[in-house]
Parts: sequence; structure tokens; C-alpha cells
Amino acid sequence: MSSEPSLTCEALLKSAADQIGGDSPRLDAELLLSYVTGLGRTSFRAWPEREVPAEKAEQFMSLVAQRASGQPIAYLLGEQEFWSLPLKVSSSTLIPRPDTECVVEAALSLELPANARVLDLGTGTGAIALALASEQPGWQIMASDRVEEAVALARENSQQLGLPITVVQSHWFDQIPAGSFDLLISNPPYIPASDRHLKEGDVRFEPESALVAGEDGLDDIRLLVTEGLDWLNPNGWMLLEHGYDQGEAVRDLFAKAGWRNIETRKDYGGNDRMTLA
Ligand code: GLN
Repeated sequence: MSSEPSLTCEALLKSAADQIGGDSPRLDAELLLSYVTGLGRTSFRAWPEREVPAEKAEQFMSLVAQRASGQPIAYLLGEQEFWSLPLKVSSSTLIPRPDTECVVEAALSLELPANARVLDLGTGTGAIALALASEQPGWQIMASDRVEEAVALARENSQQLGLPITVVQSHWFDQIPAGSFDLLISNPPYIPASDRHLKEGDVRFEPESALVAGEDGLDDIRLLVTEGLDWLNPNGWMLLEHGYDQGEAVRDLFAKAGWRNIETRKDYGGNDRMTLA
């Protein structure tokens, strides 16, 4: 294979894009070739005829085959940008999404003390906690996850980015040391078990435990809303991400549990995406 002309960057990218299909085949191909070769994406345009060593080409085409079969690009690259932070991701965690950046923005808009105590429940990669730490160095931020691999990954991201957060392994509030927080924040699982959406796209490869929450998708939100008040300072807030069609149900849950100042906010796409109380 090494003497064939198909080993130029451009030929590899073209053949890869044909194989990948979907929404952004060329971009995906460029990201993968850049990952394998260490060359910047713009260099492929500047020097399309540049040769790629056979070994690297082989590695590239194997990633392309995985992408073509639906593997999320973030898992193949091992990285996803969130709030302009390069986060390591693995198949044990949800891939951080732009919708969740709106939740971070909402948290930053709250009036909280300069040294606020914050808990990000079900942190996964550490995305929410680390984004908050990057904006509010004075906040004392704790993050929890039930999954051991997620805890390790969140710690690794914290170290790599130099953003100090405390990560504990805990199923929701179970192992959280006693104390009260100014902000409880979470992007919990909220998809109903029977949702057709689970059979499409990236979610097929993501951990079900990070996505699905019972019949109506509200099992974990119910628990957080019910137990949350016991962990909150008198003027503290809880802020939860949820599905576009769950706003009313989540507001009801908060109201029944005795929360006040309940408000649903939208994501960048104009859909209900989070409720705070
Ligand atoms: N917003 C994600 C999706 O619909 C789900 C994230 C979650 O369940 N927390 O793909």
C-alpha cells in the first residue's frame, strides 16, 4: 500500500468522507487525520498532496471505519471541548453538550457569595464543575459521580486544566459529607426508557446510566428535588437540566417538595432546558 498514490492527505480525506457520511463527513475526517498525524487541519488544504506514512494511514482508516459505524467523534478523539475547555472523555461518561453550557451560564447569573459552596451531582467528565471553577476561582466546588471511571476522569481533567475541584464517588447525596451548599447543580439522566431518540446517533454509544431515568425520565430528578433541600443553605439554589418537554413536570416536583422561586429557562435552541428553585 505504501507506494500507492492514495496515501496523500487529500486522497485519504476524500475516501474517508465518502465512507463516513452523515452531517459533517469532511470535518470528521479532518479531525481524525489531524489526531493521527499531529498535523493541523489547515495544513491539509495548504498541502493536500503531502504523503501520509502507511502505518498512520492504516490507523486513520480504522478510526474512519469506527466513525462510519456511528462511534461518536468525541470518543474516537478522546476529547470534547466544553466552555472552551478541552475535556478528556471516555465511553464511561456522557459527552458534554452545548445545551449544558446554558446551564453553566444560568448558574453564573445567580447571586451567590464570592466563596459559594457548590455541588455538581453526576459530574461525568467534570464539565459543569470545571466550567464553573474556570469562571469563579473563589467558589468551593465539589463534584460527585456514582461511576468510578467518571470520578477518575473528572479528577484527571481537573488536574490537567489546573482547575481545583473536589471529586467524590457517590450515588447522588449518599456519600456527600454533611454540610450545606449555596448551589446544587446537575445534568442528571432524564430520558424516558422507551424514548426512540435512544436508538439514534451518539446516544447509542453513551452509557445508559447517564441518559435514562425510568419510565417518565424523571426518576433521578424526583430524588434530587426531594432530598436537595436538606443539603442547601437557606438562600441557596438548585439548578437542574431536563428535557425540552419536562419543564412543567419538574416545576410541579419542586413546588410539591416546598421549593420557592421556581423558574424554567431555555437553551440556545429556544427549548425549555433547565429549572431552578
Ligand atoms: N440532552 C441529552 C440528549 O438528549 C441527554 C442528556 C441527559 O440525559 N442528561 O441527548
